Amino acid sequence: MAQEKHAFILQGLSCADCALKIESTLKQHGYSAAKLNFATRRLHIRSNDLSNINSIISRIEPGTIAVLEKDVTEVTGPKNQETQLLIRIGISVTLLIIGVLLTSSSLPPLVITGGYIALFGAYIVSGFPVLRKALFRLRTLDIANEYFLMSIATLGAIIIDEIPEAAAVMVFYSIGEFLQSRAVNKSRKSISELLDIRPDVAHLVIKEEISTIPVEDIKPGDLILVKPGERVPIDGILVSPTANLDLSALTGESRPVSIVEGETVFSGAVSSASIKVKATVVSSESTVSRILNVVENATQNKSEKEVFITRFARYYTPFVLILAIMIATIPTILLVEPMEIWTYRALVVLVISCPCALVVSIPLVYFAGIGKSSRNGVLLKGANVIDSLNDVSTVLFDKTGTLTVGKFKVVMVVPSENYTPQEVIFNAALAEAHSNHPIAKSILEAYGKPVDISQVEEYEEFPALGIKMKTKAGDSIVVGNDKMVHEIDCPHSACITDETAVYVVLNDVYIGYIIIDDKIKPSSVDAIKNLKDKKITYIGLLTGDTKNIAERVGGELGIEQENIYASLMPLNKLEILEEHLHKTLDGGTVIFIGDGMNDAPVIARADVGVAMGAIGSDASIEAADLVIMDDNPDRLNDAIDIAENTNKIAKQNIALALGIKAIFIALGTFGLASMWVAVFGDVGVTLLTILNSLRLLR
Ligand code: ADP
Ligand code: MG
Repeated sequence: MAQEKHAFILQGLSCADCALKIESTLKQHGYSAAKLNFATRRLHIRSNDLSNINSIISRIEPGTIAVLEKDVTEVTGPKNQETQLLIRIGISVTLLIIGVLLTSSSLPPLVITGGYIALFGAYIVSGFPVLRKALFRLRTLDIANEYFLMSIATLGAIIIDEIPEAAAVMVFYSIGEFLQSRAVNKSRKSISELLDIRPDVAHLVIKEEISTIPVEDIKPGDLILVKPGERVPIDGILVSPTANLDLSALTGESRPVSIVEGETVFSGAVSSASIKVKATVVSSESTVSRILNVVENATQNKSEKEVFITRFARYYTPFVLILAIMIATIPTILLVEPMEIWTYRALVVLVISCPCALVVSIPLVYFAGIGKSSRNGVLLKGANVIDSLNDVSTVLFDKTGTLTVGKFKVVMVVPSENYTPQEVIFNAALAEAHSNHPIAKSILEAYGKPVDISQVEEYEEFPALGIKMKTKAGDSIVVGNDKMVHEIDCPHSACITDETAVYVVLNDVYIGYIIIDDKIKPSSVDAIKNLKDKKITYIGLLTGDTKNIAERVGGELGIEQENIYASLMPLNKLEILEEHLHKTLDGGTVIFIGDGMNDAPVIARADVGVAMGAIGSDASIEAADLVIMDDNPDRLNDAIDIAENTNKIAKQNIALALGIKAIFIALGTFGLASMWVAVFGDVGVTLLTILNSLRLLR
């Protein structure tokens, strides 16, 4: 039986370290495809038996529950948890103050005993969740976690008779947990606001009645009303005469787009006036849903830094434990100093060493980067793509549809003797009827009438050449470029290779040609210029088109002549990409950016494959690591900028966290920081890194 796919939201998940642990434990329990995203709290699982999931999760992070995504109504979990935590903090702070007051002065012994009881109370109330988690983990011999560190540090303090310290540390730690969970939730919220482009409800029109229904309930064919300023809830066809749409959330392009009745309206667009749209898909297949899916799944392909942090945490905690033991024992033995002093210092080191700042902030940074980029009209399909974009050495462009508009227009029809332009166009249109190539579309447009497709018997498309087909009546038609007519060895008037000419051959007789025009996108000029400014060493052009056209386009864009490869068959493009991949083996990302179906293998093979979201074929979009929604090649530069920024902030967070920790470890070792100062340091640096991550969204 096929394993069903499920998506859960883990309500109450606040510790990134637990998220890693939950994922690996689920895998151990047979949920081999489990993927948990800390930033979105989304758990993906493939299984038919879900009964164990919640018991596994609550063993690792008590209080966290998995709720099927479709059942999540309001995020009630964290709110409840926050209130509970606040009550806990309130009680323990009060007890701590009472305890400190009663134990510090020269009061009667009975009162002092009362003070100690209050301190113990504060310790237990604030520390209970920590102690419990530490114990749960200990059962699986897991000591490499912050709970274990906090527990032994504070229990150690109690043993050496530093009870006020132990209580203070636990109280401050729980305050820190609270602040941290607030900060994490806030950043999650800012990121999801950035991505909040999918409306929840739609106005359904039936006859003259309007009712508001959940977007999930829309069926293809339903008539939907979109009021001024509202987002279009679903993809469909415009039923009103005209519409002015703001597509900036989808494409990053802020200029509004005007369309007329019968044209496609994309979900996520904002309409300036009241319009009616006839739905063509269900909600889960609409453009916004697909975009959000890509973005949310993107963080599952972890970046190098995330992988590093996970590994680092595994070695780091045992290392700190050993360091602490050494601090507690060696000076005492060698210098014959009092045991208590060095034990206390060792405990301070344990408290400060918690790796939370890293574990929490790094996944957030990448998620913020991916979210930001998607708002700029560039979908990144993995956090690892951000790494690759930081080290680009080679960018290879496809020509047609990528650097040129790809909207061809028939500008001239030249029949040979005995034939009429109508005959040339008619036969060409018949041959191209099944093709999706932009050239085919322009010929069909020029023909202007519907083609009788039932006439098409045999049909074969040759990428970068043209088409061969046979009609029911027994005629054979070949359309294609100069290379194609040479291939079939058909005599023709002139070899046109400096513009796009489509030759038409009927029953082995050449009957004329069609001249087609395509334009360079204005943004292509910027794209190449900005890439050059970025000091990218190699910019190349790979095209199926002829040398003359390729050199003209390349020349206008400032691509070096020797970097232009023309007359390529799809497999040749792959060979040239391989050459470049080889050349850059020792580092340096090779990017290929294309649109056609024939580009899909090259896009898949490149270090970073880029596809055009609007004109691009589904196969190329599927294969890509990065999708440019509005087909503007210059967006690659925006993506590189965002990736560099993301990388910079991730590095800052790592340096900040490790640096501050190192300082505090040194201070603790030499007795210059007390245990609760250490807790402040720990909480402070975590908050600092989370806030730093949010800078990306600006
Ligand atoms: P690029 O690699 O630059 O995107 P293509 O491989 O899509 O270009 O096309 C290269 C050339 O192949 C076109 O300019 C055209 O001459 C020819 N060609 C490809 N498909 C067709 C078709 N369906 N009809 C006519 N000519 C075609
Ligand atoms: Mg192309």
